[in-house]
Amino acid sequence: MYLFQIFNNSSSYSTLLIVVTAIVGDYVVAYSKLHVFQALFDNATHFTIGGLCWFIVCLHSNSRGVGSTRKIVEIACCSLLSSLIDVDHFVEAKSISLKNATNLKRRPFLHCSTIPILLCSILLLISYASDNGTMKRVSLIIWTAFASHHTRDATRRGYWFYPFGSSPAIPYAFYIALTCILPYSVVFLDRYISISSHYDALDTIII
Ligand SMILES: [Zn+2]
Repeated sequence: MYLFQIFNNSSSYSTLLIVVTAIVGDYVVAYSKLHVFQALFDNATHFTIGGLCWFIVCLHSNSRGVGSTRKIVEIACCSLLSSLIDVDHFVEAKSISLKNATNLKRRPFLHCSTIPILLCSILLLISYASDNGTMKRVSLIIWTAFASHHTRDATRRGYWFYPFGSSPAIPYAFYIALTCILPYSVVFLDRYISISSHYDALDTIII
């Protein structure tokens, strides 16, 4: 009961931390004078929100056989992926110059929401069909990282669903609400797609 209370509190604090990180991160980005600091704080905000989202998933998901070390590695992976998505700016610009990377004529490919939707749906279907718990967890990490990143970016440019076009930019409060709901929707998906196999195999590799 006491343990449940701790988990419940951790979850509430983490959700609150998502809200604070989002607002403070955007405030710092908006008021940073140097372009390089804007980019760094923007990326750090993506990194932190992605990690917090997966932290909440770890608190609630059916993680039978998933050890603490593996959860920490997963949180780090989700954070890293959330921030690395912006690497496509440099790929698209074919340059390592920040100025070139942030002045693109079109949106870079990893910002297309059709990619994670298709990729994660296929991976989830395969993991369900093959009863592969590790693949399911990896696909949910990929989904959490992309969904948190794209939702934050959607406040400026909307969601991009190639080949159907883009949505309008979403209101700021809607972005905050969607980001807070994201980890809980992933927990629901995790429980809904029931897989009987344990995660022990990967745990022994990581530990
Ligand atoms: Zn981005």
